[in-house]
Amino acid sequence: MRVLLIEDDELIAHGILTGLRAHGIIIDKVGNASEAKAALAILHCDVIILDLGLPDEDGMSLLQHLRATGLTLPVLILTARDAVEDRVAGLTKGADDYLLKPFDLNELVARLHALLRRAAGRSVTLIEHGALRFDPTSGETWRHGQAVVLSRREQALLAALLQARGRILNADQMKDNLYHFEEEIESNALSVHIHNLRRKLGADLIETIRGLGYRISKENS
Ligand code: CA
Repeated sequence: MRVLLIEDDELIAHGILTGLRAHGIIIDKVGNASEAKAALAILHCDVIILDLGLPDEDGMSLLQHLRATGLTLPVLILTARDAVEDRVAGLTKGADDYLLKPFDLNELVARLHALLRRAAGRSVTLIEHGALRFDPTSGETWRHGQAVVLSRREQALLAALLQARGRILNADQMKDNLYHFEEEIESNALSVHIHNLRRKLGADLIETIRGLGYRISKENS
């Protein structure tokens, strides 16, 4: 899962970045509405966390702008404004969920996973693919009913491939699921993770499409 956090409060942002990264979530932060628009123009992400009180534009008007330009990603609003009418207004103006500050990090993580599941049209947590069973929330993985231990990055790659449902993901899209902006990317890291996933989950699970990228195989045994 890749998240864009739009939050100007450095302390809150730091807490969210640290907490979500500890859960294996790739997350980048921008501090105002204009940075958010610039980031969304180039960045692939799965879900947005939006603070309503931004320095250059109200978060609600940013959200309306983004929806008007065709943004369909799930958006979770963070707000200190606990007035009921604000929450109702947020949800009717294109937000998918909201949390009031202060909030519990585990609850934020659970809400993000729930938003992604809803966006993918699935109501169950587990993804089944042939002999493979994967829980994107916990990262737990089973093959033929046997638990398999995956690293955080292997979990992130597997989740991206499974959620793409057989679509080809190119190397950049795959790396988007592994690294945030500031992180140094080792050139062979992606192929090492793919190698390890095949070793743990079966050589035929992930297909390499030469010159294009990777995709999850149709049948996995
Ligand atoms: Ca703020």
